[in-house]
Amino acid sequence: MSHIFDLSGKVAIVTGANTGIGQAIALSLAEAGADIAAVGRTPAQDTVEKVRALGRKAEIISADLSSIEPVQRVVDETLEKLDGLHILINNAGIIRRADSTDFTEADWDAVIDTNLKSVFFLCQAAGRHMLAQREGKIVNIASLLSFQGGIRVPSYTASKSGVAGLTKLLANEWAARGVNVNGIAPGYIATNNTAALQADETRNRQIQERIPAGRWGEASDIGGAAMFLSSAAANYIHGHVLAVDGGWLAR
Ligand code: NAP
Repeated sequence: MSHIFDLSGKVAIVTGANTGIGQAIALSLAEAGADIAAVGRTPAQDTVEKVRALGRKAEIISADLSSIEPVQRVVDETLEKLDGLHILINNAGIIRRADSTDFTEADWDAVIDTNLKSVFFLCQAAGRHMLAQREGKIVNIASLLSFQGGIRVPSYTASKSGVAGLTKLLANEWAARGVNVNGIAPGYIATNNTAALQADETRNRQIQERIPAGRWGEASDIGGAAMFLSSAAANYIHGHVLAVDGGWLAR
């Protein structure tokens, strides 16, 4: 049965691959056999070294995804350096916190541009290539706030709800043409992104009590789900946003 998870010969773009969930996804895909284009604004040197240690190819592609300016170059450089493109993991993302009454246009635009606009245009650029070869897997990293409202994070909730909607829209357009578009909604995962929450003793306790699994997620928990959705095992899964949340949404 293991062959249906095998990614040998596949090339994956992972955005925000230098740390956290992106790094864990890059390593999970590489463990399954994929070569990795590690895309981001901070060079993913550590990730690339770890992928190469697994015997896979890896290349750093520098791109600041706060605008769509680098999007086509990311796809072109991946094809040039790694000679293929079969998987796109849209992971790079940011969050800004403030009461909605005080939320600034700058915090709105920064989050929407990175988390939603660049995600769509990367799907478009990679999708054109995948549709032409009639093969591709796209996994967009969503959030629990693709399903829930959250508080004091209006642009983040809007962006991640948008990511869930886009994932379904693109699946409708591309499912019959060989390209799977799905999402993952991570629960509370211990990364830089959540360092402040982890450090706050009260919030940390409240969060863990609310999670049926009784613990924070590890970035590698998301890696396994991304590997699955990138593999032939997920060939008939389209437009789904998979919660990997220790049961949070079931509560
Ligand atoms: P993280 O440790 O803060 O990593 C975020 C990644 O995105 C970093 O690689 C970061 O690069 C990259 N990034 C941010 N802005 C960028 C830009 N303009 N251009 C290129 N890359 C950029 O956070 P994480 O927890 O691993 O989050 C990864 C994804 O999961 C995000 O989409 C986040 O919203 C989502 N998520 C996380 C959680 C959680 O509990 N941790 C829960 C739900 C969803 P730099 O290092 O250069 O900043």
